[in-house]
Amino acid sequence: MRLIFLGPPGAGKGTQAARIVAKHGIPQLSTGDMLRAAVAAGTPIGQKAKAVMDAGGLVSDEIVIGIVADRIEEPDAKKGFILDGFPRTLAQAEALDRMLESKGLKLDAVLELKVDQDKLVDRIVRRAEEARAAGQPVRKDDDPEVFKTRLEAYNRDTAVVAPYYAKRGQLTAIDGMQPIDGVSDAIASALSVAAQG
Ligand code: AMP
Repeated sequence: MRLIFLGPPGAGKGTQAARIVAKHGIPQLSTGDMLRAAVAAGTPIGQKAKAVMDAGGLVSDEIVIGIVADRIEEPDAKKGFILDGFPRTLAQAEALDRMLESKGLKLDAVLELKVDQDKLVDRIVRRAEEARAAGQPVRKDDDPEVFKTRLEAYNRDTAVVAPYYAKRGQLTAIDGMQPIDGVSDAIASALSVAAQG
């Protein structure tokens, strides 16, 4: 199963993707996680990406597309994957199409978590508080001001990605404002429909 999770930062993509990993045994390919790992390891990609990420902007298409192209070649991605945080621009969506086409692969579903953007800043503040309370590191870009910049980047560059898949009849919208379990149930229904189609 090959899936894409779309939705603004803080919509719950990571949480829901982790549940699908547990249920379906396919890896979650989060470009944000991969970039954070590159920053932590101080690789050349990490060094290039750090300032942009800290400011809440988008890392260049070239870098991100390269990371994903390498990652889907890994053995664990052969049986499928969930893309979380990618594609974030039309150029990335088109590049993904080319990657899949060259391997003769197709997407099974593109799920868009729809949320009320006015509520997202509260959510992100809570996410930072929960991480802090659990003794986990708090993401630098979960600062409310940086978060607003991330949301702007989403509305400017990423909001066009969902219509790209909708035009091809591949998009399913999920109400992401329900409690977490309700969102998971809606996703499970969408996936069973996709599996039949
Ligand atoms: P995320 O964990 O998905 O919220 O991503 C954290 C940050 O990593 C983003 O704010 C961007 O700076 C960068 N990033 C992650 N995925 C992408 C992508 N597909 N394209 C560009 N930048 C990305």
